[in-house]
Amino acid sequence: MKKRAFRLTLTALLLLSLIVIFALTAHADGEGSDKTPYTATVPFEVVEDPVPQKPAYEDLASRFLTIESQVKDRFTERMVATLINTFSRVYPTLAETFNHGVMFNIVYTLADQDSAAYETGGRNALERMIAMNPDYFMKNQNDLGALTHELTHAMQVYRDSKYGATNTANGGSWITEGIADWSRFNFDLQLFTLPNYAGNQKYTDSYRVTARFFAWVDLHVDTTFMEQFNEALRTEPYSAQFFTRITGKTLDELWQMYAESNHAVSKKK
Ligand SMILES: [Zn+2]
Repeated sequence: MKKRAFRLTLTALLLLSLIVIFALTAHADGEGSDKTPYTATVPFEVVEDPVPQKPAYEDLASRFLTIESQVKDRFTERMVATLINTFSRVYPTLAETFNHGVMFNIVYTLADQDSAAYETGGRNALERMIAMNPDYFMKNQNDLGALTHELTHAMQVYRDSKYGATNTANGGSWITEGIADWSRFNFDLQLFTLPNYAGNQKYTDSYRVTARFFAWVDLHVDTTFMEQFNEALRTEPYSAQFFTRITGKTLDELWQMYAESNHAVSKKK
């Protein structure tokens, strides 16, 4: 009996020491063990989805805009900041409106000549270059919207050449120039006025005259006109039939309606 009691005591001691060792080890394991113990009743915290953030202006410009140093060096810091800010606020809308949201890399290059700015295509499929005259823009800061006009050209991926001679079979430059000024009128941050209709105008007058005609059609005949017209120009060779197909009126009928209307033209909402 004594031997058995001894064995029991030994077993009990062994068990006790195991428990003590376990407790000590457990205590030493992790910093939380001597603080509030973990329980399953920690209140469930509702974490709301973060508000989606638009990319910061600078981020968008740093991704898609390169201002060559020869251009940058001729501008004040403030002017460079204005260029970046304008680009970032206008460019996504232009891409959305004219190029299915696709943004090409834009490079502002130096053009030391009379012209304010012009678009020159790019060195690869994803690039478009805009040559600009820094002295002109420093002197004419109210004409910075000319860059919105050029950025629109960068987004015009048309089936025909964008710069065909006026009145050629492919539509001619009056269409692409009219659209670029329509775009500047609607999307640029600076005010850009379009001339009221006058009897001596023609729709092929291009630039602001054509832009106002397009704005009138888009506001008063079919609010999807520009969207459909741009899409047609992207996919098919130009035809005056585009106007008939979209609006049910021929180009000349539309111009006649425009001439007889005294509708005001405002920015597209
Ligand atoms: Zn142009």
